[in-house]
Amino acid sequence: MKMKLPKLNLHIHSTYSDGKNSISQIVSSALDKGLDYICITDHFTNSWKADIIPNLNSLDKIEMYLEEIGQFQKYLLDEERQMALFKGIEIDLNSTEKFILNSISPAKFDIIIFEYLESIEGISFIKKIINYWRKNSKNSKVFPLIGLAHFEPSFFVINGMNILIDFLTQNQIFFEFNSSYPQFYSQKYHSFFDQLKKRNVLVSIGCDSHHISRLKDIEEVYDRIKFYELESNLIDLVQILDKKRI
Ligand SMILES: [Zn+2]
Repeated sequence: MKMKLPKLNLHIHSTYSDGKNSISQIVSSALDKGLDYICITDHFTNSWKADIIPNLNSLDKIEMYLEEIGQFQKYLLDEERQMALFKGIEIDLNSTEKFILNSISPAKFDIIIFEYLESIEGISFIKKIINYWRKNSKNSKVFPLIGLAHFEPSFFVINGMNILIDFLTQNQIFFEFNSSYPQFYSQKYHSFFDQLKKRNVLVSIGCDSHHISRLKDIEEVYDRIKFYELESNLIDLVQILDKKRI
């Protein structure tokens, strides 16, 4: 089965955190490069990292950020461009639960990615957050797509693989092929990728770009997705994105 796969980069940083370019520069560069789907995912954290990198550290800043992305979504729509732009955020799992729940209104985002899932405890932490969000969301139809940013399978290969895969399928959480971390989709994790295929886990593509020169550094990821025969897992994700586009 041959499928035409769209060009995605769903992990991009702007000057709202540690990226070097404004959202405006990112959008125009992504258009130039012919990307089909992009998502801005700036950092959200109150861990040690918060003192080192700029991040979305206040409700006002998050509102400004979302409003600016919203303006560009409108621009793309008005100009009838086919590229889709999404509102995302990258949550550091070392942040406190209280800080996350007090700051993030999930319905305002299209995509929420969690970084640093490294243990079973981390799975419980994410579950608790998602359950809280679901319980408190008025409209269950408006719920963001959840994913794991630059996830490293090695933490679960020896122990906990079933728990991890169940967690991903039950919550429709995607695995991200992040081209800044090719070691995380190395062939030594073939059994992990076989599970993703077998259990229809969603897969996504991001390059964690902090500069527009890197926005389209995703080409080799497509070869890897084909190698692991995960094309339809990617298409499933794209279909969910199509329902979210405005
Ligand atoms: Zn990132």
